[in-house]
Amino acid sequence: MGEQDFKPVEEFREIVSHLRKLMVANMEMGLEAPRLSTSALNYLDSRPSGFASLEDLRKYIGDCKRCKLGYGRTNLVFGEGSPEAQLVFVGEGPGREEDQAGQPFVGEAGRLLTKIIKAMGLSREEVYICNVVKCRPPKNRDPEEDEIETCLPFLKEQLNLVQPQVICTLGRIAAQTLLGREFKITRERGRWHSFMDIPLMPTYHPAYLLRNPSAKRQVWDDIQKIMKHMGLEVKKDA
Ligand code: SF4
Repeated sequence: MGEQDFKPVEEFREIVSHLRKLMVANMEMGLEAPRLSTSALNYLDSRPSGFASLEDLRKYIGDCKRCKLGYGRTNLVFGEGSPEAQLVFVGEGPGREEDQAGQPFVGEAGRLLTKIIKAMGLSREEVYICNVVKCRPPKNRDPEEDEIETCLPFLKEQLNLVQPQVICTLGRIAAQTLLGREFKITRERGRWHSFMDIPLMPTYHPAYLLRNPSAKRQVWDDIQKIMKHMGLEVKKDA
């Protein structure tokens, strides 16, 4: 093998991938887990290092089983919308309908999000919509820390590729994950924060609005702040 054939990053990834498969096989057979922790292996294996496009990133993620959510999903829900979107919505994770469709925010909460986007004078095709974790947590439970830790590099890479003007997080988990701390959504929504130097506006998840319609006013206030920031025409009512 010539020096020019030696690709350390690729080789390292391959080794990590083999180790991970070995570890999963060992655990499935009830054998002792290897000394390198699951999350360390997952992190090393899932850490992206720069992609030319969202399609390249999607190919890299592949039929991902880097965390346990990969074993229960129907479809991996990568995200969709414009690769040049000025606004990215980040939710928590796919629900039942999203898992079936392989698309983010297509259930009842998704239809409400689509209405909000239209009320902004935009379409779903003009924004980008994705989640913190790309596979459905069983029974719609919150994603667990190790699952978020393993999947987060993919979201970071998506944001890095899209480079939006604004991120809007939907619900507590998304805000908490991107801000890296406990987040009280009722107290802290509606104020500007930042993630990867991109202005971030946290608001309620549309699923919360379905249960608490009176919170729609607050979400529209938050959305108006985003519209103002983006130079969109601000309307008083949705
Ligand atoms: S949630 Fe993310 S890390 Fe876990 S299996 Fe799905 S794509 Fe992979």
